[in-house]
Amino acid sequence: MTVRVRIAPSPTGDPHVGTAYIALVNYCFARKHGGQFILRIEDTDQSRCSESSKQAIFDSLKWLGLSYDEGPDVGGDRGPYVQSERVAAGIYQGHVDRLIAQGDAYRCFCTTERLAALREEQKAAKATFFGYDRHCRDLDPAESQRRADAGETFVVRMKAPLEGEFAYQDRLRKNPFTKQWAEIDDQVLLKSDGWPTYHLAAVVDDHEMGISHVIRAEEWLNSLPKHVWLNEKLGFTAPEYVHVGLLRNPDGSKISKRKNPTNILWYKQRGFVPAALCNFLATLGHSHPDELEKFDLDELIRIFDLDRLNVAGPVFDMQKLEHLQGLYFRELDDDAMVGEIHRCIDERIHDLLPLLRERMVYGGDLTHAASFFYTDHVSHSVADLVPKGWDAAQTKKALEGLRSVLNKAAKKGDLSWDSSWLETTIRGFGEAKEYKPKQLFMPLRVVASGRRESPPLFDTIALVGRLAFMQRLEDAILALR
Ligand code: GLU
Repeated sequence: MTVRVRIAPSPTGDPHVGTAYIALVNYCFARKHGGQFILRIEDTDQSRCSESSKQAIFDSLKWLGLSYDEGPDVGGDRGPYVQSERVAAGIYQGHVDRLIAQGDAYRCFCTTERLAALREEQKAAKATFFGYDRHCRDLDPAESQRRADAGETFVVRMKAPLEGEFAYQDRLRKNPFTKQWAEIDDQVLLKSDGWPTYHLAAVVDDHEMGISHVIRAEEWLNSLPKHVWLNEKLGFTAPEYVHVGLLRNPDGSKISKRKNPTNILWYKQRGFVPAALCNFLATLGHSHPDELEKFDLDELIRIFDLDRLNVAGPVFDMQKLEHLQGLYFRELDDDAMVGEIHRCIDERIHDLLPLLRERMVYGGDLTHAASFFYTDHVSHSVADLVPKGWDAAQTKKALEGLRSVLNKAAKKGDLSWDSSWLETTIRGFGEAKEYKPKQLFMPLRVVASGRRESPPLFDTIALVGRLAFMQRLEDAILALR
């Protein structure tokens, strides 16, 4: 069998290290078996997808060296490789029509109001099954056709089995994955605007692209019954589905940006050697049979064994990654190291220059003027942190208050971090607490830069970045203890 595997990220937000991890596993599996590794972009949820996100996926995979054989920007003969282009090419409609004709899918004419009321009812009744009540499931087909012809709005749903158990033996798991069909919703396959949902599009595309193995994160296990069922009803030979453990924070929770940087491009900007990040991701999934800690992609392909992949939630340990990064970085020859240094500086210099130009006389002044933008940690002396008229306890209280305001905003999903957002938020916080701006701003300047004098405060905090600033805030609060 020709091995053909794919990753199918949705271009929403920043390119995620979890995607890099799954890409690495698929890449190695394909290379190991002389197969193909494909990139498909799943952008059927148009309201959440963006062109820049799509570009960032290409850039981050290229940076990591995980080259794909077929994909939107490299071509291939099973394209197009972007689902919105496949929608435009009318690839999905025929499959939906076929499911309806077979009686395996049906048009649902329920209004959004009815569905909202249904949800409320289920909530109030503390129902154990939350989902569509299959109201339109048994509509007479002729009646359904008549209403569709008359222009009524509808979605198409799968006619999931009402009883019985779904079971699937995933090769990475000891026991089969099981689920009762009674707990599975009549999934929408085609939305009212004629676009397919992820489930339909993914199954059709995996088939049409000749995918032999779908190797993906375990968060998709719950969708597996629907995917296997769809393959069967559409008459496809299903690919083998394999579900890999999700990356975890050290506390066991699913990896999240509050605990670890998850944006691949952050690592690039920070100056990580891509091979070090790949090596680190490799060690998360696969221990080396000779217990080697440092090994490159070729070696990983040589030892790679899908059956030996770690499913028990590999922990993303930043210290381990930094240790590996150090090994790779120090091994660079002089020219490559100079290249890396240049790259790191160049990536940020255009953003920083407006803030720095007034503070420099010579090019060489950059090393001093900008040093705090380029390091992970800055040191804060208590004497610098505490402004005139406040003591350490008062300063600590103010910093803790601001930390909670910033954390709350992030929790609510507000990840804005530009200068004007910071100014409004921080000034608003200061006014509510009746702090004098001067007193509040001095410690913040020291937190951000380690200095009592810095470029304009809010621009500085914005460019230091959320992750680094929050870490510095933590360090300063600790220093004031
Ligand atoms: N579009 C899905 C994602 O964003 C792909 C899931 C799959 O691999 O089937 O991860």
